[in-house]
Amino acid sequence: MSLSNLSTITFVRCLGCGRESLLTSQALPLCLDCIRSNFPRVLPYIERAHQAAREPCDLPPKPLRDEGGKQCNICVNECLIGLGRKGYCGLRQNKGGRLIGANAEKGNVSWYYDLLPTNCVADWVCPGGTGAGYPDFAYRDGPEYSYKNLAVFYQACSFDCLFCQNWQYRLSAGREATLSASLLADQVDEKTACVCYFGGDPTPQLPHALRASRLALERNRGRILRICWETNGSMHPSLLRQAAELSLRSGGCIKFDLKAWSEELSIALCGVTNRRTLENFELLAHYTRERPSPPFLIASTLLIPGYIDKWEVSKIASFIASLNPEIPYSLLAFHPQFLMGDLPTTSRRLADECLGTAKEAGLGNVRIGNLHLLRDY
Ligand code: SF4
Ligand code: SF4
Repeated sequence: MSLSNLSTITFVRCLGCGRESLLTSQALPLCLDCIRSNFPRVLPYIERAHQAAREPCDLPPKPLRDEGGKQCNICVNECLIGLGRKGYCGLRQNKGGRLIGANAEKGNVSWYYDLLPTNCVADWVCPGGTGAGYPDFAYRDGPEYSYKNLAVFYQACSFDCLFCQNWQYRLSAGREATLSASLLADQVDEKTACVCYFGGDPTPQLPHALRASRLALERNRGRILRICWETNGSMHPSLLRQAAELSLRSGGCIKFDLKAWSEELSIALCGVTNRRTLENFELLAHYTRERPSPPFLIASTLLIPGYIDKWEVSKIASFIASLNPEIPYSLLAFHPQFLMGDLPTTSRRLADECLGTAKEAGLGNVRIGNLHLLRDY
């Protein structure tokens, strides 16, 4: 399988039940019913799909469980890495019994500036996009024109999403980590109002991002500098707590991608369980009442046709509402990408149904993002 699978939309037969559908991807030739209700039987197909996605980039097909290996605890994968082998994210290697690769000092990362207001998952509620929290946490009482965001792109991930919207990071996941946390912190200039860590995902390199954030805040004491994260939420809770503290006091936010509710579907789409993500989201929800404005925690779900349906969204929305109904929730229209380039974009009907169900679940702040991608048929 090539890394880019932008073939035309076509009927694909489910390997579980034999049904054909336009909403089944060649990269994961299984229907939603078989994934959710016949998981043990279709698991070998799921594993094969992820192996095929990872092989071209020399990434391990599964989290490592090497007997006697070195343990990495940074994310949910908890890799046990044997001599000469590397972890699931491709960043950490066991060399001579020592874990080497990206660490708090050196990161495999690139960065750029984005003028505010920028196309951020939280731009509809955050200080950069709306002025929420002005004057303590925003420079303007409205969108922060003339300021910018430092966008920090970590080149590795703890998940293996077959629909990844930034899949090119995989080509660099094995690259040597060279950017120091200090040099990254230096990129915050007087017009930088916020830093956003994303990727890939910041999770496997969270120690580096935490150090860079602390240095940047120290060097810019006395002025607004928000620390924000966009993540799959799979990190160790002790690292998450540190990230949360930095965002809380700086006026920043944590954007959690709740990709699926069903664990089986998460494993099918992303190669990894979503249990840690949901537990971590609950942990963060406890902080939301400490700083209601600007919102500290924002949830999002990509509406992948054929795989994320109204049921998934309804369960996610009820979960969020049970924690705090004021947490903003963004439902994002899908752009066909990476190995799921053979799916259509999200239909307006699915988006409207999901919006309705999220509101019925009790959420007070829901919206559909990427409206221009919605299709009318
Ligand atoms: S960060 Fe996660 S995926 Fe990477 S080596 Fe550590 S436990 Fe494995
Ligand atoms: S990085 Fe944070 S403050 Fe800046 S635009 Fe994104 S969510 Fe808003």
